Amino acid sequence: VTGSDYADIRINADRLREDFAELCEIGATIHGGVSRLALSNEDLQARAWLDRRFQHSGIEVRDDDAGNLSGILRSENPDARTLILGSHLDTVPDGGCYDGSVGVLAALEVLRTIRDAGITLPVHLEAIDFTDEEGCWHPNLGSGALTGTLTENYNSDRDRDYGPFRAALYRAGIPPNNIHKARRDPATLAGYLELHIEQSQRLFEAGCDIGVITNIAGRSSYQMEFRGEACHSGTTAMENRQDALLGASTYIVEAHRLIRECFPGGMFNCENLAVSPGTFNMIPDRANVVWDCRHIDKEQMEIMEGRLLELAKEQATVHSLDVWVKRLVRTSVATMAGRAVLEIERVCERLGVSSMRMASYAGHDAQIMSTFTPSGMIFIPSVGGISHTSREFTEWRHVIQGANVLLHSALGIATEVG
Ligand SMILES: [Zn+2]
Repeated sequence: VTGSDYADIRINADRLREDFAELCEIGATIHGGVSRLALSNEDLQARAWLDRRFQHSGIEVRDDDAGNLSGILRSENPDARTLILGSHLDTVPDGGCYDGSVGVLAALEVLRTIRDAGITLPVHLEAIDFTDEEGCWHPNLGSGALTGTLTENYNSDRDRDYGPFRAALYRAGIPPNNIHKARRDPATLAGYLELHIEQSQRLFEAGCDIGVITNIAGRSSYQMEFRGEACHSGTTAMENRQDALLGASTYIVEAHRLIRECFPGGMFNCENLAVSPGTFNMIPDRANVVWDCRHIDKEQMEIMEGRLLELAKEQATVHSLDVWVKRLVRTSVATMAGRAVLEIERVCERLGVSSMRMASYAGHDAQIMSTFTPSGMIFIPSVGGISHTSREFTEWRHVIQGANVLLHSALGIATEVG
């Protein structure tokens, strides 16, 4: 039996749409979007809803020590490996109905479709909702725990008050100190597939149905403090100033120029600048900058990050300042499995939908999973490239196409790797 032997089966589009409409009601905002922050009442309600959908469909439910919630369609072979399909039900505040949800609902629908068709696979098939993908408390908490990559001090770093986070975990029935037990053995997995909306406008502009993800951008985030000397703003000679704000603002402008001129495919964003003392008549002695950079090429990412750090030292010297640097986050460039890329492309061709290869600049659970098990990612167009707002929208035919591509990619990979 090969994946193409099931060429005629399709997901049940009406059932998927009903689920989508019901899920959109959970945490619905007056703007037409949803707010389901991880571990909030709304998020827990959405998970309870998913749990009921699994049970109602006769699908075995599993949850782990990180609160990841799964439905499992078992293979007849008890020793079979597991192919995981998933995404996340949590959202950003005032987010849209599609980000994450489409991937989880499609995974559920794929399991039901395969069960209804009476197909038994040589792998267990699992549909998963990962905890806190959006990072309300900790980015990719669920997939980080499952892959064992969650940092040890994820809820005990002394720079932050983790009380509310720990309380939210307890309330959701997730003892904070057991999260590492969610780690799976990669030898028990056959791979991971995720369907997601694109969130930018390349597919929409190209009029293309499906994006086949080849890699996901790496991201580094830093906090830097430029330190000078606070002094009277009128009596200090212009050439004698150690103006921390001047150093920080020149750094931001030069960093943007550097990325635009020397690193095609690179991204730089400064998201915050806090100045002190920030008072009338004073030259600022502290300027605290938070920025991040992304690149889709591993080697370029390293060079770019190095140049951004050197630039800070250069600018500090030019303006007679010191600079203190702290790295906040680093995720490496992720590569999707070649096997998954080819399978998704083949499926698109067979189903008669157009596809193009692309990289993702947004982080996803697939990024975390790809270091652990062969992973693949399928994008569907976001109208206007808008996301993380209530205006987020994907045409329904694309949701259906995406779910069918997920179904057939899962069948193809399951029958081959099983
Ligand atoms: Zn998402």
